[in-house]
Amino acid sequence: MPSPTPIPLLGIPVHAVTMADTLALVEGYMAEPRLHQIATVNPEFVMAAQSDAEFRRVLEQADLCLPDGVGLLYAARRYGRRLPERVPGSELVYRLAERAAARGWPLFLLGAAPGVAEEAAGVLCSLYPNLCVAGTYAGSPDPAENEAIVRRVNDSGAALLFVAYGAPKQDKWIARNRDALPAVRVAIGVGGSLDFVTGRAVRAPRWMQRLGLEWLHRLIREPWRWRRMMALPRFAWRVWRG
Ligand code: UDP
Repeated sequence: MPSPTPIPLLGIPVHAVTMADTLALVEGYMAEPRLHQIATVNPEFVMAAQSDAEFRRVLEQADLCLPDGVGLLYAARRYGRRLPERVPGSELVYRLAERAAARGWPLFLLGAAPGVAEEAAGVLCSLYPNLCVAGTYAGSPDPAENEAIVRRVNDSGAALLFVAYGAPKQDKWIARNRDALPAVRVAIGVGGSLDFVTGRAVRAPRWMQRLGLEWLHRLIREPWRWRRMMALPRFAWRVWRG
C-alpha cells in the first residue's frame, strides 16, 4: 500500500488515513528493510513546528504523520480537504501490540518514567499473550545517553519501537537515530501512551472523545499543561484566518 499524499496543515504534512489504513501501511513497512518513522500529529505539534525548524524537518521526512487530534480534522475541512478519522496514538499502541503478537514482531518500549515501560509491557503481554517484548528502558532523550540507548535497542533485536519521550523530543530522537537502528522497521513517538496503558493517566470518557473534547479532559486532569495547550486556540485562529 503506497503512502497516501499528505495534506499540509499550516505547512505540516498530515496523512489522510484511518486506523485500518495505518495498520495496513505498517504491515508494508515491516516488509521493507529500513526504519519507517511514524508521528502522531496534533495541533500542538503543528504550532510547535512553526517555530522549531528541526521539528518541522522531522515531520516532513516522517513516513507517516497520523491525524491524532480532532482539531486537525476541522482544519482540513476548512481547507476543503478531508481527514477520514482521528488515529489516536494512545489507541494505536494497543493495535500495534496486537499485530506484533500475531506477526511475531519483537517490540521495544523506550521512555516514560522509570518502571512505566516495564509495567506497560506486562499489561500488553497479558492482553496479547504471544507478544514478544524485546526490551524496555526508560533512559532519556539527552544526547549523552544516545549511544548507549541505540546499542540497547540494537542488541534487543526489536523490529517495532515505541518511544515515549513526549513531542518533539521523541520524534527528534527517532529522526536522529534512523540510520543507526538497522533492525528497527517501524519507530513511533507515543507521547504519554505508556502512562495510559499502565493506568497512571486516564483517557477521557467515550462521550468526551466522541464530542472531540479529549483536550478538555487532559486540561482538567493536568492543568499545568495550560501554557502548552494555548497552542489549540492559536492553531484554530491561524486556520480560521486561512
Ligand atoms: N518523558 C520522558 N523523558 C523526558 C520527557 C518526557 O520519559 O525527558 C515521558 C513522560 O514520562 C511521559 C511521556 O514522555 O510518559 C510523554 O510526556 P507528555 O505527556 O508531556 O507528552 P505528550 O503526550 O504531550 O506528547
